[in-house]
Amino acid sequence: MTSLPRDWHPESRAVHPPVVPVTGSRPLGVPIHQGHVFAFDDPDALAGAFADPTGAFLYGRLGNPTVRTLEQAVAELEGGAAALAAASGMGAINSVLLGLLRSGDHVIAQRSLYGGTMAMLGDLAERWGVEITYVGGDDAEEVRAALRPRTRLLYLETVSNPMTRISDLPALTAVAREAGVISVVDNTFATPLLCRPLEHGADVVVHSATKYLGGHSDVLGGVAVFASAELHAKVWHHACELGASADPFTAWLTLRGLQTLALRVRRHCDNALALATRLAAHPAVAAVHYPGLPTHPDHALAGRLLDGGYGGILAFEHVGGRAAGQAFAGAVRLASLAPSLGGVHTLVIHPASTSHRQLDDAQLHAAGIGAGTIRVTVGIEHPDDLWADLEQALGQSG
Ligand code: PLP
Repeated sequence: MTSLPRDWHPESRAVHPPVVPVTGSRPLGVPIHQGHVFAFDDPDALAGAFADPTGAFLYGRLGNPTVRTLEQAVAELEGGAAALAAASGMGAINSVLLGLLRSGDHVIAQRSLYGGTMAMLGDLAERWGVEITYVGGDDAEEVRAALRPRTRLLYLETVSNPMTRISDLPALTAVAREAGVISVVDNTFATPLLCRPLEHGADVVVHSATKYLGGHSDVLGGVAVFASAELHAKVWHHACELGASADPFTAWLTLRGLQTLALRVRRHCDNALALATRLAAHPAVAAVHYPGLPTHPDHALAGRLLDGGYGGILAFEHVGGRAAGQAFAGAVRLASLAPSLGGVHTLVIHPASTSHRQLDDAQLHAAGIGAGTIRVTVGIEHPDDLWADLEQALGQSG
């Protein structure tokens, strides 16, 4: 322990606690560096940090050791050159969109994106003059036909919500690459355990770390991973200006979640496949949407793209339509009625009365969602208990 000068007054001693050095051993848990500012012993080193804030820790919005550990951990998992951690998934997504686009640019985006991303793209179109063309996630020729001279970015999600359609990443990103267009893929649903979009031609991967990476419904965070250091630098500058950076405690909680990600994802996948199989045989279920079932339209593509499981999210159609779907959602006991996903708890939601409530039955149909669709984001509880709960809720809502 470094001792303080003997002649310092209590007021000074209180502000400068002695720092306990760790030598000869190291903490196995990542330390939380909660401070937002870093002091320097050498004026030249401080001047150097101002000149290149990526070279040393200077100010929390520009970098922090705990946050940097998370960035490097997720960059490693996704196979990227560098990453930036943000205060939420939307913070990461907005940093990427605002960091790479300018007025007059054109974006090709998948039709079924997460609502917050759709809203942001709508804002970019209305207020900033960015033009957007929406496409499906499976037709490379549709993407080719949508290309324009000002097309700057292709935006996809690995797995769509809530119908679990799989994007044909290799085919779609190949068209973008040929045209010099940057591909961005939201990999939140798949996680880097099941799919690494950079290996399939993407340039940027974004995550809501709020979901599987954090994994316990107790943290809000986001990460963007970049195939090249140049792309990272461009977006990082913008994220710092935006003030989107993750705080150290967010990074610490996410790092703690990451340590069990592989175990949790395995269990989410096993549970989801077990429930999907049982739901498919239940008389109150008209259809089950889960990429692990051979009946799913993207089953073969999922087999090629997803590595070691088909994800933890499924949807099913209640035969009783809207009223029965809503009744089912209110009848679950072990599962919770809640939005979000990716935590250890199983959650159910009835999109027609919640996230997609503004759509009538015809509009829902056009969006590929049924009036009686239920989304189940499967947790890590025992599969027999989960099935007993879904079965009793189906019985009560039939
Ligand atoms: N991407 C996907 C696929 C999501 O489901 C969500 C949130 O539900 C987000 C991004 C936004 O993440 P956050 O809520 O952490 O901002």
